[in-house]
Formats: sequence, C-alpha cells, structure tokens
Amino acid sequence: MVENAIETVAAVEAGVRDPEVVRVTDRTYFCPLFSGVTAFETDAGLVLVDTGLERLAPHIAEAFREYTDAPVHTAVYTHGHVDHAYGLAPYLLEGQSDPEVVAHEAVAERFARYARTRDHNEAINARQFGGTVELADTMYEEGSPFGWPDYPPTTEYRDDLVLTVGGERFELHHARGETDDHTWLYCPDREVLCPGDFSIGACPNAGNPQKVQRYPDEWIDALREMAAEDARHLCPGHGDPIVDDPDAIRTRLVRTAAYLEALVEDALAALNDGSPPHVDIVHDVDYPETDAEWLAPQYDDPEFVVRSVIRRYGGWWSGRPSELQPARRAALASEVASLGGGAEALAARAEELADAGEFRLAGHLADFALEAAPEDESVAPAVNRVYAARAEQAASLMAENLYRSAASYAADRRPFR
Ligand SMILES: [Zn+2]
Repeated sequence: MVENAIETVAAVEAGVRDPEVVRVTDRTYFCPLFSGVTAFETDAGLVLVDTGLERLAPHIAEAFREYTDAPVHTAVYTHGHVDHAYGLAPYLLEGQSDPEVVAHEAVAERFARYARTRDHNEAINARQFGGTVELADTMYEEGSPFGWPDYPPTTEYRDDLVLTVGGERFELHHARGETDDHTWLYCPDREVLCPGDFSIGACPNAGNPQKVQRYPDEWIDALREMAAEDARHLCPGHGDPIVDDPDAIRTRLVRTAAYLEALVEDALAALNDGSPPHVDIVHDVDYPETDAEWLAPQYDDPEFVVRSVIRRYGGWWSGRPSELQPARRAALASEVASLGGGAEALAARAEELADAGEFRLAGHLADFALEAAPEDESVAPAVNRVYAARAEQAASLMAENLYRSAASYAADRRPFR
C-alpha cells in the first residue's frame, strides 16, 4: 500500500505509529516507513541503502539501533529524491567519522537542479498533497527539503560499481527508470536485492504529471536484469519487503516489466498510427488487466504513464491546433461561458455530469466556469464539489491529490494555478 507522506509523518510525530524493523536475513534489517531503508551490518560498519524522509529518519535510525550499534561505514542513495537522500545525519553515531556516500553521478545534478528550482518544487509538492501553492509555506516552515542535503555523495559512478565493505560485496548498477540517477543494488552473499524505486509495490511511478521525464523503456530492461539475479530477499523503495521467497520476487519483477512494456508498446503504436491529437491516445490504449495488488494504480496511474511516453517521443504541444499559441484561459472561458448561458449554467451542468459519473466532461466545464467567474457565489462551491467528488473516485493517489488541489482552489474562489 502506498502511503501519503504527510499522513505518515503526522502519525509518527504524534506517537501513534512506530517504525517497524524487519530482520530480512542475518545482520540485515529493513524499515518501510513511507520509503524503505535497508541496513547491512558488516565487520567494518553499516552499509545503509537510502535514508528516508528527513523528518522520519530520526525515528527509523532509533528503531535500527535496537538491533545494531555499528557505526555507518557507507550510505548508498538509490536516487536523489527527498524521501531517499536527505536523512543520513541521525543514523551516525556520536563522534564517528563521516561515512562514504555513494550515488550515481547524476544525483549531484539533481541536487543542483533542486537548488535552482526550489520554489517551483515546493509548489509542485504542495499540489501533489492536495493543497494550494500557499500550502508550501506551512509545509516547509522548518526549511525546504529542496537543494543540497547535508551529506552529498563522496563517491560517484557511471555504469556499475562494486563496493567491498567488511569483506562483503555490494554490486551497484545504474539504470534510468523513475529517474535518470537511479541505482539498484545486489548483495550476492546475502541474496538481498535493493531495487530503489524500480519496485514500489504498486503501478510504477513512470507517469507523474508534474515531474520531469520518466524512462519506462529502460525501466523494463532494469527489472529483467534484477529478476536474473534470482534474489531471495527484496527490500523495495516503498512498501513491504519480500523475505525468503525468490519466486515471488521474480514474479513481481517480471510481471511489472511486462505491464510497463504493454503500456509503452501500445502508446508507441498509437503514435505511429498517424500521431492523432495527443489527448485522445489515452482513450485508445488497451490498459493491461492486473489482479496483483502490487501493480495496482495506488500511487501513479497507467494513463499518466502513457502521457509520459507521448511526451518523451514528442514535444510539449497538446496536439490541438488552438493550443499551439493559446488565448489566456480566462478569455477563452468567458467566450465559452457567454455562449453557454453563463458561468453558472456551465457549473450547474458540470455538477449534473459529475452526478452521472461523467467526471472527465464535468471537469472541462467546471474549469471553464471557475476561470470565467471565480468570484461568483454559486460557481466556486459547485466546482469545489465536482473536484471533491472526482478526488473521491480517483484510483491513484496522484490523481486524487491533484483533484483535491483543484477543489482547494475552488474553495478559495480562484482558478487553479
Ligand atoms: Zn521514493
């Protein structure tokens, strides 16, 4: 089950939820608290794979300390996202020397990008958690997570790297997937695979509507390479581990690859079939059926994965001629509203459509209504209701939260921004 980060942080800080450490195999521990952290105890100290969200890391570190008092020798960041690379400090023992920090060479470029686009990323995250952009001010009042972490990488690599710590071998491999800076790690002596966010116990996060390009094609290859390791234990980027079950691990990796491949191939076939206006492609794709809970669209949505493929192989243009050089939204909305009997009539029709379950059409009319008359007494509440209802029925957390964000703007009587 993919968690909501804000809810997890609130529950842990209020003391109503404790981190649970799983002993995966001898001297190997895993803690799934929003994101997963793995600790390999060796004779030279701990090898940590990821560190969790900055605010959860002290709780995870404390939980690990019930099992091991070894200093941290090396930390590996599977990628530079805020829930993986920003929490190292609390794991370090007092007075210990600084650990090695190992990551793919593109992780540092990500940190530089975050520093350059801090406010933008804060706004994206505020919307991703269902709020208006102003929510960012309260989310980050103790400091923004976007920028350089306290412990940036000390060792970078490009393709593959073997680390030997305390006489044990850790094999790092780079592949693009959710990000361009990803590492997956295999520890052959303990048969433990740490796939980072290549495996999150849900539909892969390959389509995220607000974020930079994802790489589903390379993701497929990486999943198959991981499956070939025949790991006995899986410690994923998010979700519960798989302990002592090689068949379940292989099945999960291979079926996730097949699922992604079906989406990519269908999207490419639609593009090759005369490249119809892009937005219609999402209706023409055959979405693969799955009964596996660990492939369900709990976080990302297969429709967004298709959009990500379209963007990767095309440009930013939506494919509608008018949207090549569009009018301002408010100007277009005013035209549509005056033709349709006014913004109130559009909003009322949007509610009718939403009541009938026609949420896609309802959304278009609701947008026009709010953009045409944001201050209107009846329009904004109607639009708020349309998007609140749409959020309720959304399958993926990403869609749900963006619709909640749309509802928040309507509640504020202003168009989405
Ligand atoms: Zn993650």
